Amino acid sequence: MSTWKNWSGLESATPERVLTPADADEVADAVREAAEAGRTVKMVGTGHSFTSISAPEGIMLRPDALTGITSIDRDAMTVTALSGTPLHVLNAELERLGLSLHNMGDIAEQTLAGATSTGTHGTGGVKASLSAQLAGLRLVTGDGSIVDASREENPDIFAAARIGLGALGVITHLTFEVEPLGLLEAHEQPMGWDEALARHDEFVTGNHHCDMYWFPHTDRMQVKTNNRLDPETATAEPLGRVRGWVDDDFLSNTLFGVVNRVGNAAPGLVPRINEVSGRLLSERRYSDVPHKVFTSPRRVVFKEMEYAVPREVGLDVLREARALIDRNDWRIGFPVEVRTTPADDITLGTSSGRESIYLAFHVHHRADHRAYFAGVEAILKAAGGRPHWGKVHTRTAADLGSVYPRFEEFLAVRDRLDPDRVFANSYLRRVLGD
Ligand SMILES: Cc1cc2nc3c(=O)[nH]c(=O)nc-3n(C[C@H](O)[C@H](O)[C@H](O)COP(=O)(O)OP(=O)(O)OC[C@H]3O[C@@H](n4cnc5c(N)ncnc54)[C@H](O)[C@@H]3O)c2cc1C
Repeated sequence: MSTWKNWSGLESATPERVLTPADADEVADAVREAAEAGRTVKMVGTGHSFTSISAPEGIMLRPDALTGITSIDRDAMTVTALSGTPLHVLNAELERLGLSLHNMGDIAEQTLAGATSTGTHGTGGVKASLSAQLAGLRLVTGDGSIVDASREENPDIFAAARIGLGALGVITHLTFEVEPLGLLEAHEQPMGWDEALARHDEFVTGNHHCDMYWFPHTDRMQVKTNNRLDPETATAEPLGRVRGWVDDDFLSNTLFGVVNRVGNAAPGLVPRINEVSGRLLSERRYSDVPHKVFTSPRRVVFKEMEYAVPREVGLDVLREARALIDRNDWRIGFPVEVRTTPADDITLGTSSGRESIYLAFHVHHRADHRAYFAGVEAILKAAGGRPHWGKVHTRTAADLGSVYPRFEEFLAVRDRLDPDRVFANSYLRRVLGD
């Protein structure tokens, strides 16, 4: 019997049956078989969600045979790929074709459907989530029908299924808007807490992308801004192979892993460790193709909670979270990440209809996250926060409706596409209801 486990090790499940469909017809057959037998069916990604959102109960569909680009439209500047394609594979293929996505998050291990279904996002830009960069999709609905959706065709399904939580059907194809491959320059600079917060608006409006990291128990922030370079005049200056490995992989994975083990064994040392970690980060600039600037490997396993709050209250919420950490005896070894996104028009998008600041809280996978996450979540919730669908949170259908003005619209699309709840699991029952 096969067991499913997520990346952080926090969630696991044992499906009744595992299938690996290779095209939309095989997906449709699996969905019909599940529906007729009264079973549920769930397509999983790579399990990078921290929640049980992809935990299979009946039939588990693996994404491995649904990979690769299926078409390129250079006039429309769109690329269609199969839904199980890992993001790093799409990025490498696009680079070979002289193309790129506009924006992405911190890693590129996820599948395209897994990442879009939970609203995976980066920071800044004109579009921040992968879902907001979609031009179309194809999905198999609860009765095994194959449906196409875009702004022109089935627009209500398109609005909902771009962040569909796996509740509306099994996506087989995703069409992304792409842009010509360019260069992105990263500028990383250490800064004090007061200065970084005072200049946050300036960094966000004056750069294409801005990301900040605060080291708990210290006054240290790391500010990273990314900007597009003029392709006529710029040449890439990537992190050298050795320097890049020493700076990035060694500091953010190898050394960080050791430091976290020390911190777990001796929590009293965490403030000092964070101070030293903050000092080790120096100012630097480098440039490369976008996906190599946006993403990097994460080998130290952690647990994460992230919320989107309205942009105008975001920094006050961060200050409140810091005050809470300062008042408690928790020892937090991971930085708090601060990102900003424009509003989008996706039914259950965490940035739907409002510009947002995302605040992400992490702990080592062996550390106890419960008191820290619960304390911070109360602050985020009071600020009208919306939890990332793929990250730890405790919200339910009863209280999510109040922060999503289009919640009922999503439920109505779900009732139409999956009236018998073939795609349900315990997470969906909690956040959407039965
Ligand atoms: C180290 C790390 C870094 C991360 N960085 C970021 C970040 O920078 N920004 C951010 O926003 N998030 C980030 N995340 C969260 C991550 O991007 C999301 O949780 C994402 O959903 C994971 O994709 P996956 O392929 O692992 O999907 P899974 O977690 O396996 O599945 C997620 C959902 O997608 C559904 N799904 C999968 N395939 C299909 C399909 N074909 N059709 C319909 N539904 C489908 C599943 O059923 C489930 O509901 C990070 C996570 C980790 C572990």
